[in-house]
Amino acid sequence: MRKPLIAGNWKMHKTVKESIEFALEFKERIGDVNDRDVVIAPPFVSLFPMFDILKDSNVKLSAQNMYFEEQGAFTGEISPIMVEESGCKFVILGHSERRHIFGETDEIINKKVLSAVSHRLIPILCVGETLEDRENRRTFDIVGEQLARGLYGINFSADFVVAYEPVWAIGTGRTATPEIAEEVHGYLRNKITEIFGKDKGDNVRILYGGSVKPENVEGLMAMENIDGALVGGASLKVDSFEKIIKFGRQ
Ligand code: PEP
Repeated sequence: MRKPLIAGNWKMHKTVKESIEFALEFKERIGDVNDRDVVIAPPFVSLFPMFDILKDSNVKLSAQNMYFEEQGAFTGEISPIMVEESGCKFVILGHSERRHIFGETDEIINKKVLSAVSHRLIPILCVGETLEDRENRRTFDIVGEQLARGLYGINFSADFVVAYEPVWAIGTGRTATPEIAEEVHGYLRNKITEIFGKDKGDNVRILYGGSVKPENVEGLMAMENIDGALVGGASLKVDSFEKIIKFGRQ
């Protein structure tokens, strides 16, 4: 049985003050949620103060990115040691905005994945095709390659999470139907089984991301291979994020 995981990616939203206000209210609202993992990825500057508030709660923290080196002359970057020290258990890697705006390649993402794992961080590796890829029927080739290259060389016993985020569905209000998402999730699970064996294939959690909202979470979560959600916009409000987290309870 895979425990569902719902993660909120705040991107470049919320000041430290706003993050603290959110954390204080949110912690109370979801205090009774234990049958699913809840993760928030705030901006770096909010990690420490949020950890202070959430350390005794059921909410875990994630970084949105990190560099692969431990220290050095890498202006503007954050190391895995710093991420871990700020209370993070997870780190999102290979988000489509990192790939498309900041030019991250599969090779860079792979270095980050290996570095995260060696620092006891659980990478949430994002993969996803563009609209053009989908229209050219290249979805499986693209996500398969991103997955295999991103995880290349990772220890078989390492814990990791995969997020399928079709680029055309991120922040657009256009969600993949549960059936479209499930088709890709099934493909990704088979690919993980091929590379890492059945045990890993059966146990790795594959999240869906792309305009997940309270209105569409139930349909997505009903799919066999969808184990959770990576939520952008709808994770910024306590109300909508709480509703998504509490899917299946209404
Ligand atoms: C994301 O940031 O990973 C994301 C899926 O965003 P949104 O939910 O806003 O589409």
